[in-house]
Amino acid sequence: MGEKLEQLKMHLTRPIDLLNAVSILNWDQEVYMPPEGVNARTEQLSTLNAMAHEIYTSEKTAKLLEAAEAEVADMAYDSDEASLVRVVRRTFDQQTKLPTDLIIRESRATSQGFAAWRQARAEKNYAIFQPHLREILDINLEKADCFGYERHPYDALLDQFEPDVKTAQIEQLFDDLKTGLVPLVQAIAAADPVNDNFLKDRDYDLDRQWDLTVLALRDIGYDFNRGRQDKAPHPFTVNFSTKDVRVTTRLSRNRPHTGLLSSIHEGGHALYEQGIPEKFERTDLAGGATLGLHESQSRMWENQVALSEPFWRHYYPIWRAFFPDQLADVNFEQWYRAINRVKPHFIRVEADEVTYSMHIFARFELEKDLMTGKLMVEDVPEAWNAKYQAYLGITPPDDALGCLQDIHWSHGTIGYFPTYTLGNLISAQLYAQAKQDIPGLEEGFARGEFAPLLDWLHNRVHRHGRKFTAPELLERELGQKMCARPLLDYMREKYTAIYHLA
Ligand code: ZN
Repeated sequence: MGEKLEQLKMHLTRPIDLLNAVSILNWDQEVYMPPEGVNARTEQLSTLNAMAHEIYTSEKTAKLLEAAEAEVADMAYDSDEASLVRVVRRTFDQQTKLPTDLIIRESRATSQGFAAWRQARAEKNYAIFQPHLREILDINLEKADCFGYERHPYDALLDQFEPDVKTAQIEQLFDDLKTGLVPLVQAIAAADPVNDNFLKDRDYDLDRQWDLTVLALRDIGYDFNRGRQDKAPHPFTVNFSTKDVRVTTRLSRNRPHTGLLSSIHEGGHALYEQGIPEKFERTDLAGGATLGLHESQSRMWENQVALSEPFWRHYYPIWRAFFPDQLADVNFEQWYRAINRVKPHFIRVEADEVTYSMHIFARFELEKDLMTGKLMVEDVPEAWNAKYQAYLGITPPDDALGCLQDIHWSHGTIGYFPTYTLGNLISAQLYAQAKQDIPGLEEGFARGEFAPLLDWLHNRVHRHGRKFTAPELLERELGQKMCARPLLDYMREKYTAIYHLA
């Protein structure tokens, strides 16, 4: 590696270390911190964020970056060196477009917004969160102006999470997906319903559920020497290095499979982070590339793997041994169909995989309307409920089950939701290829063997770290553009069998 690039790398370890410390404080805030710690934590977070921002956007960074750019100018686009410089340039440009006072205001607004959101959700009272959402939306509009955009202010925000993907492209992909989903959802609604009473009406011990989540995480390859699992009301994954990648989960006394799926989902994110090559540590190449790619990993482990028939051929006997009374009269077929039941739900994170994207269509449209001023912050609950009626045929009875259910806006993130559905689309594209490449892939799941899939993902996705955007990676590894077809094919095949559709 050249001298200039080495200097740039060393210089940027400081903001990277600071931001990893920010992540630890955030993790603590969501997992362990007592409620009254919030004000002091807010100050600590804004101080550290401001310090990281100052170093990252300094004159010194600008000079070192320019020198490093000259040094790598002749290197291949996909070399580690050129990729690192390109990623730093993208982050630097994004960060220098934001004035320090905006970063500080954002940090305060979101820390307080998070506390207000939690109270509002507990009290089912949107009014508590409304002024915070107004402030967060205004900050995001300011950010969009700072970043600049050609067509839609939403493009500017989306670009933070999914570079190279535009709002118009998402509209097209979502339209394709809607066109295929609507007849499938209708056919399922007209079919004989699946009985899942034995999930809802029975009591499943939480300690045993916990043990089953740990077992499955180990089996899919999550390394507990480089991670840990805790409980959090809104599960997430966070990493402070490739050697410390933590997951969280949420268990409930009934519907025990949801806790497992939550752990496996976060486990999928964590496998990605644990799979990042060590050579990228403490650089901007360490970590998952984009949110859509990240979500493709969690979704694949959650849906294509942990909700598949072969997966449960292996685990259902184990579950029955853990819950002998609750599952005594439940055969494999009943279990498999029940956990894959398709039914419109108020809560996104509890949605089945078929109706899941409907939740995203609603949020994507609401966010776009908020940004253009077509929708006012005070009218969000009403607009939210109207979308749910239109897409899912249900109206949330209160705002905790409606517009207050997600943490994202309270964290200041607008433009993030579409990446969930992009993740679903990409997961199906990658999985279709993995199935072709790995003979006996799913037969292996039935024996509890997941290493072949993890190895494949490591080779095709994880080892690149943040070198490529999602469109670049799909082009390189699959020779494809993002599309809806593989996801629709996968869902049609799976649910035609489950619901005995014609
Ligand atoms: Zn996720």
